[in-house]
Amino acid sequence: MSPTAQIPPRLEVQGLFRSFEGRMAVEDVSFSIRAGQVTCLLGPSGCGKSTTLRMIAGVEMQDRGRILVDGTLICDTVFRVPPERRAIGLMFQDFALFPHLSVAENVAFGLSGPSRVKRQRVEELLDRVHLAHHIDDFPHQLSGGEQQRVALARALAPRPRILLMDEPFSGLDERLRDDIRDETLALLKEEGTAVLLVTHEPQEAMRMADEILLMRGGRIVQGGAPYNLYNAPVDRAAASFFSDINVIRARVEGALTRTPFGEFLAPGRADGSEVDIVIRPQHLKIDFDRAGQGPLPTPQDGTAARALVERARFMGRESLVEFRMEYDGSVLKATVPNVFLPKAGTPMWLMIRRDRCFVFPVT
Ligand code: ATP
Repeated sequence: MSPTAQIPPRLEVQGLFRSFEGRMAVEDVSFSIRAGQVTCLLGPSGCGKSTTLRMIAGVEMQDRGRILVDGTLICDTVFRVPPERRAIGLMFQDFALFPHLSVAENVAFGLSGPSRVKRQRVEELLDRVHLAHHIDDFPHQLSGGEQQRVALARALAPRPRILLMDEPFSGLDERLRDDIRDETLALLKEEGTAVLLVTHEPQEAMRMADEILLMRGGRIVQGGAPYNLYNAPVDRAAASFFSDINVIRARVEGALTRTPFGEFLAPGRADGSEVDIVIRPQHLKIDFDRAGQGPLPTPQDGTAARALVERARFMGRESLVEFRMEYDGSVLKATVPNVFLPKAGTPMWLMIRRDRCFVFPVT
């Protein structure tokens, strides 16, 4: 056994259930987080993210299941450590600072001990979030981003063993958000806190998380590193959660499906059943001549399908082209380099990156 295997995870959640008025909000949720790890609960509105987080914080009771911190039980259905004794920090969407307290007083709020030590911790954190010069200001004198950083400093000041963050960046404007996310992540890693971050934004989860837990209807449907969730989604809905997708429906004939883009393997799928071949827009290939001579000649190997450009939109770094497929009139979307902006009605050949396709049963 490796030495780390003997250390219990910082947070361990085992089989949590919670229903409201007979409707299941959280169903059999289990996961663990190690010190220094950022885990994201990701999913659409109402899938049970906040309820899970609130049970860990201790402000909501589970119907079933256990929560452990550093291997010690803090909560099951009969035993419950109160929220204030869990050494868990909280940072919510409405992260309201105390308006009548200065920045220093806000950050010091959860600290105990000699005032010299408290002051040192406050200064250290404010320095770290580049707000040392605002130490004696009041919240209303700060921008939204600065207030956010004070809230982070306040949450981290008592060195919580676990930090729970519920959509902490959603109040900020988009340009500011990425910077604050990166800064926050750097500080969380330095502090070595175990973090559970709730978000409905896949981009945020991919940017911040060591591990993403994708939730749907109260359950975790897939967990893993961001790279794995993006590149090996468990089903069609999981694929579409991270980006636009194209779907090509096909019927299985002897472990194969024939499509206008050639044949695909469909191992384990029953003969005669339908499958969805899912492909992201950046993995469609357009056969065109980069030198501007127009479309290339017809590929002869049966892996290309003919389409007409429906419309093309310039998106900055790339263009989004919608194709009306000749074989069934459906529309497929492709993102292509921004130098390419074809006119509507242009005929073209479309191919797909076979290594980037996912084949799912139709449910
Ligand atoms: P959001 O991103 O919108 O906050 P969420 O994924 O965090 O969504 P939850 O807030 O955990 O979802 O809610 C899960 C389900 O439980 C929802 O259907 C919600 O309406 C329900 N729910 C949550 N809290 C309560 C409550 N106190 N009383 C009744 N139903 C509740």
